[in-house]
Amino acid sequence: MPNMSKKKVAMPEQNPTKRIHNFKEVAKGYTKENAIEEAKRCLQCKHKPCVSGCPVNVPIPEFIEAVASEDFERAYQIIVSENRLPAICGRVCPQEKQCEELCVRGMKGEAVGVGRLERFVADYHMENVKDQTAITTKNGVKVAVVGSGPAGMTCAAELAAKGYEVTLFEALHELGGVLVYGIPEFRLPKQLVKEEIDKVLALGVKVEKNVIVGKSITVEELIEEGYKAIFIGSGAGLPNFMNIPGENLNGVYSSNEFLTRVNLMKAYKFPEYPTPIVIGEKVAVVGAGNVAMDSARTAKRLGAKEVYIIYRRGEEEIPARLEEVHHAREEGIIFELLTNPVAIYGKDGSVTKIECVRMGLGEPDNSGRRRPIPIEGSNFTLDMDTVIIAVGQTPNPLIKNTTKALEVTKWGGIVVHEDTMETTMTNVYAGGDAVTGAATVILAMGAGKKAAIAIDERLSEK
Ligand SMILES: Cc1cc2nc3c(=O)[nH]c(=O)nc-3n(C[C@H](O)[C@H](O)[C@H](O)COP(=O)(O)OP(=O)(O)OC[C@H]3O[C@@H](n4cnc5c(N)ncnc54)[C@H](O)[C@@H]3O)c2cc1C
Repeated sequence: MPNMSKKKVAMPEQNPTKRIHNFKEVAKGYTKENAIEEAKRCLQCKHKPCVSGCPVNVPIPEFIEAVASEDFERAYQIIVSENRLPAICGRVCPQEKQCEELCVRGMKGEAVGVGRLERFVADYHMENVKDQTAITTKNGVKVAVVGSGPAGMTCAAELAAKGYEVTLFEALHELGGVLVYGIPEFRLPKQLVKEEIDKVLALGVKVEKNVIVGKSITVEELIEEGYKAIFIGSGAGLPNFMNIPGENLNGVYSSNEFLTRVNLMKAYKFPEYPTPIVIGEKVAVVGAGNVAMDSARTAKRLGAKEVYIIYRRGEEEIPARLEEVHHAREEGIIFELLTNPVAIYGKDGSVTKIECVRMGLGEPDNSGRRRPIPIEGSNFTLDMDTVIIAVGQTPNPLIKNTTKALEVTKWGGIVVHEDTMETTMTNVYAGGDAVTGAATVILAMGAGKKAAIAIDERLSEK
């Protein structure tokens, strides 16, 4: 008999008053007993609606059935047959908008906790099973992958597993892209990202760190060096700004710089690590996506007393994962919704105030969301020491600027054929945020996988 409880089995978590003083993971993960109880909520629907919500087609009911039968290793093998980064996806995927949104149990209660179960299975495997990855015999065909985020990692893994000689070129000194420099430790522990990446490398992927494609070497030069196909997964690392007065004052950060300093450079361990970060008592974070929530919650952990999320639309339009918004509220983050900054003021070159205007919502705009409209005469100011801008990111134009035949959209996304992810250059493919603009881990992985299949088909053509 299935477990007919309308609620998901609760996830043990660190207490909010304690966790705002540390960078340890907030959600502690299911125990074996929790996982089995939650798995028994799955009705094993014949038509499997959840699977169609998963961009990488994980056989969800099958792995959940294995968990319910206490066969956790079988569950793991089912997941990794389609998804090579399950510990990461179990933690950061927006399941409520994907697999869980389509779960039948969600009609009369909460959906089955697919993400929580995926995380449990991946963690259980990491703790209990020693992997024996067999390197496939190499076929001598060289493929270059640019960028080591989820798009590049997935493409590299799929091709290496098929026998290609894959070399991964990464601009930074660490692998993982946003998983390492963007998403904070309290949401995605770096050791765990490293372990999942190590499994990909164990398939026989070569790595060249500190290589900026477009600067150290161009795409054309890679082709000249004998790479038969190239996948560009260079992400969307160029921060947007609001273009309002005061954005160049000291104390204004892009979320990208702020989070990179903290995550990659370990600013929270200064002076043990050399990169400092100056954070005041009052911090405003502009935006309400995952990046904004991560910035606000990081600022709180760095000691800020009052942290505001300032967002021009309303509650319903908040783009961040529900769980992140819930955790942010529990941690005392103050939400100023329907509010838009119009200027930042300073004294002696440093931020002192932010001026905002209240917004109303008009007719839906091109994004389908109701357009925010400033309410005349509603301006007000808030004293502020630090402002972090998290209003989106676009692809860095470096690769485009050095690769003439690569076509990009008006806003800089690489143009691809959507069935194959091939760009306007033959045998050059792209995927992830470099194509879509800032999106999600699982969409980037889906694109990497699709490109790998297309590359294999092309290179095995006689
Ligand atoms: C703070 C933050 C929080 C997020 N939270 C979530 C979340 O909870 N859930 C979710 O699903 N998504 C989340 N996202 C979005 C998600 O992380 C991205 O959509 C995903 O990482 C995109 O993957 P990617 O491989 O396309 O690019 P990236 O992860 O950006 O990786 C690109 C890699 O390419 C490298 N690179 C760039 N240019 C070059 C070059 N010229 N030469 C060589 N290497 C280069 C970069 O250094 C980087 O390592 C978040 C993003 C941020 C910033």
